[in-house]
Amino acid sequence: MVSRVIPVDPFDLVIFGGTGDLARRKILPGLYRRFCSGQMPPEARVIGAARADHDDQGYRDFVRDSILEFTPDGRDEDGLERFLEHLHYVAIDATGDGGWEKLAELVRDDVVKAFYFSVGPSLFGALAERLYAHGLADRDSRIVVEKPFGRDLATARDLNATLAEHFDETQIYRIDHYLGKETVQNLMAVRFANVLFEPLWNSQYVDHIQITVAETVGVGGRGAYYDKAGAMRDMVQNHLMQLLCLIAMEPPARFSPDSVRDEKLKVIRALDPVEPHHIVRGQYDGAEGKNSYREDAENPRSLTESFLAMKINVSNWRWAGTPFYLRTGKRLKARTSEIAVIFKDAPHSIFGSEAGTHRNILTIRLQPNEGITLGVTIKEPGQGGMRLVDVPLDMSFADALGPDAEDPPEAYERLIMDVIRGDQTLFMRGDEVEAAWAWTDPIIEGWTTRGEAPKLYDSGSAGPEDAQMLMHRAGRRWREIKV
Ligand code: NAP
Repeated sequence: MVSRVIPVDPFDLVIFGGTGDLARRKILPGLYRRFCSGQMPPEARVIGAARADHDDQGYRDFVRDSILEFTPDGRDEDGLERFLEHLHYVAIDATGDGGWEKLAELVRDDVVKAFYFSVGPSLFGALAERLYAHGLADRDSRIVVEKPFGRDLATARDLNATLAEHFDETQIYRIDHYLGKETVQNLMAVRFANVLFEPLWNSQYVDHIQITVAETVGVGGRGAYYDKAGAMRDMVQNHLMQLLCLIAMEPPARFSPDSVRDEKLKVIRALDPVEPHHIVRGQYDGAEGKNSYREDAENPRSLTESFLAMKINVSNWRWAGTPFYLRTGKRLKARTSEIAVIFKDAPHSIFGSEAGTHRNILTIRLQPNEGITLGVTIKEPGQGGMRLVDVPLDMSFADALGPDAEDPPEAYERLIMDVIRGDQTLFMRGDEVEAAWAWTDPIIEGWTTRGEAPKLYDSGSAGPEDAQMLMHRAGRRWREIKV
């Protein structure tokens, strides 16, 4: 199959925070990969901006080192040098006046103008104001905003209001990089481009859904931030909520930004408040040679959760009676992210009890090994009578689709190209973010009011025992956390 890379329009992309961790690890290596694929046009420019003093050459050297560090398998020295020629740098303080005139002179009017706010959220307002004051916030410019988008409904509203003073909603791209993953988009294609799944995609046929995002790392290095956030704010309110929306939403009328986002918003608004006994909060304990959460967070009395498991009901006609189970945590036994749609048992087994019980499970795997698998039940081969066995129908696509499917663009690079194209479908709208916080806030307030301490769990485990009980009480079990 022939690769079809369509170059985007010429652009100037300014990365505020162009020397930060996110720029070094994701944004700049991602842009380099898009350059190598031929998607970046020759006129495109990337302008790093931060307070540190660099000239263009100094910044290019800095970016070269980052790309060599974070794109180890994709080095092409000639290509890298040609990519670096597209880079510029302006020393700028988001909260001061220095550097802004130079930036305004540098950024061209006749190309797509995008400003990536890869800085702490406390600087978003200052950046928006200064872009406006220096004539850079015209109707065609776009801003890209990183998470966290607020820490509750009130702060998210404030942030939305601040950005709205100078930018229209159609110019604001709120990133949730989970939406940029190939498989997440494939989930929409599988659901809405095939007749097979949609008729079964409801509480009549689906027993329950499990969404798991498990990490093996702890919070060391970002403990100060994490301790004020916890798993709810860091993962559930944004990433897991977005995945839930894509699974639960009604088919949008068309694949356009507002059609898709309208349907996601309806799902968030249909979420029931969660009963306290449907939530398990955990905090990892120390293990041989490894810190406990409290040591990592440098807060010996921390009540912040590094693990969450919860049962959620979506109160609408499609999903009433089919719970969504969400689970995420740090220092778990494997690094894996997946969505599993567990279908109900066949209404009657003609093969008798010896055949055992078998269920179809559709697994959408985000990492590692992105892909979709459908578990089907067939006869076990051989002479031994009618014994049944579950086998995976693997839709990992690589064999059928060739090299493009083996090495799809990473989430960040795809999303940045969507910004340049002006396609907001995979970005969160302001009202979606607010609705997600409106659902999250009372849950967090409940924990705070009750002074609730998370349950300790062993590093390298599947989380606290109570999380298993959450499932067992309903006669269900979590899927194993494994690579
Ligand atoms: P970081 O490593 O601390 O980098 C911050 C960047 O902002 C640096 O380039 C810094 O350079 C610049 N900066 C700080 N104060 C500034 C000011 N007053 N004016 C202009 N530039 C300023 O942070 P990060 O990890 O890259 O994170 C950036 C944003 O992305 C944050 O909102 C974070 O929550 C979000 N995010 C990060 C990750 C990640 O993996 N790192 C993942 C998801 C979301 P100077 O100090 O030289 O100015």
